[in-house]
Amino acid sequence: MSAKKADSAKAGVGVPRLKPINRQQLLMRSINVEQLIEADHPARAIWEMLGQVDLSRFEQGIRAVDGRAGQATVSRRLLAALWIYSYSEGVSSARELSRMCEYEPACQWLTGMETINHHTLSDFRVDHKDGLDRLFIQILGLLSAEGLVELKQVTQDGTKIKANAGRDTFRREERVKQHLALAREQIRAMEDPRSEVLTQRVARAQERALKEKKQRLELALEELKKVQESKPEKEEQDARVSLSDPQARVMRTSEGGWAPGYNVQVCTDAGHGIIVDVAASQAGNDRDQLRPAVQRLQQRVGVPAQMIADAGYISHGNIEAMGNEGIELIGPVGQASPNTHQYERRGIASEFHAEAFQYEADKNQYVCPAGKILKFTGKEPHAGRIKFRYQAAPSECQSCRFRDQCCPKTKSRRITRSEDSPTVKAFLKKMQTTEARQIYRRRAPVAEFVNAWLKDKLGLRQFRLRGLAKVQMECLWVSLTYNIQQWIRLRWRSQFATA
Ligand code: SF4
Repeated sequence: MSAKKADSAKAGVGVPRLKPINRQQLLMRSINVEQLIEADHPARAIWEMLGQVDLSRFEQGIRAVDGRAGQATVSRRLLAALWIYSYSEGVSSARELSRMCEYEPACQWLTGMETINHHTLSDFRVDHKDGLDRLFIQILGLLSAEGLVELKQVTQDGTKIKANAGRDTFRREERVKQHLALAREQIRAMEDPRSEVLTQRVARAQERALKEKKQRLELALEELKKVQESKPEKEEQDARVSLSDPQARVMRTSEGGWAPGYNVQVCTDAGHGIIVDVAASQAGNDRDQLRPAVQRLQQRVGVPAQMIADAGYISHGNIEAMGNEGIELIGPVGQASPNTHQYERRGIASEFHAEAFQYEADKNQYVCPAGKILKFTGKEPHAGRIKFRYQAAPSECQSCRFRDQCCPKTKSRRITRSEDSPTVKAFLKKMQTTEARQIYRRRAPVAEFVNAWLKDKLGLRQFRLRGLAKVQMECLWVSLTYNIQQWIRLRWRSQFATA
């Protein structure tokens, strides 16, 4: 007996006896796959929900069919369920999901303990645009049948999501062309029979990578033209695009600052907080996003009775368009600020802005600060309003002592008066009422809850995929996940509630 043990024995205190760890042994365990997860686990709900929809569009292109040779392929219901479960856990990586299939109980239950290759998962996520669109619509149909989609009030909100591209990947036209020329040169060199002989496999991989790079650079040049067209002429040369994701645009983010990203438009049924439409766009602001969203809603689920949107969507054109569709628009009315930029461009001093001119309604004319008349010269119809034009006589402006402040760059001064359409007038009047303002207050809790959930719970802070089409599919996967989670919370879980 060692001295230490002897002392411990004398003192009546034993040395702690610990269980040994045996890492040399081989074990066989039986696993009851069905019992890997509890009865009310969300994975079961996802599986059940997907069992109620038609996934045949995901099956198009499968070559292994009955009566023909070929290895059986992975069930589409399983792949869809895995992705929805994965997004619900905030995991958007195909590799990570593939790893989860090896150890995560819900994934093991879904797959029946099989492993799924990450290429299979990755391809499935982006290869079935029509199938995914159809799945989103079918799930909305099921939710509607359960009373979760009402379309009485629908909020629309835009949120900026970072693209899978850094700011340091943006280049001007000259650099894009240089990269493209280099890629073409490298492809030509590879095709040259005198080029260094590589193994066939390496050569094929290199050629594929170079061709993908060339395609991306060609797309970058196309996107660059669009960016140039959207800028004032003198800023065209500053236009830049990302070489990693040419369709991403530099946008102001919700956290402040600027980053490459996409503007994701989300329409939510205010009744139960279900996403009824989602779309990614390249637009930096929301002004032109209301009408396309309503068109998609009409195709997907139906016409909403009321659309609630923030100030970014409220314009004469949008008010008129909603009126024409028979949809009640609810949104804030801001004070129209004078277009000072235009006055600066025309060299007009602040004392000679339009407010300094007096309108005489009975004669339909203006009187300028020098007491001269600006006559009515015509009108232009615009969406939601009519613009009336007035102009002073050139002879009077040319000899006027205020000319340098009033119309230094034109022969005579012009003024425009705008008259709202009856639809716009009715909207402005309605938004002064307490009832309409109370309805508008519902927007923030509904729309912002959804945005926060998509970003914080489902991990949509940055896109995993690149390019508008794939980003749009990622939006659909995440929105599907969110909707199924809502269904689980509001309907499915109730069967497990204790009496
Ligand atoms: S420049 Fe013409 S419009 Fe302006 S103040 Fe003189 S007369 Fe009137």
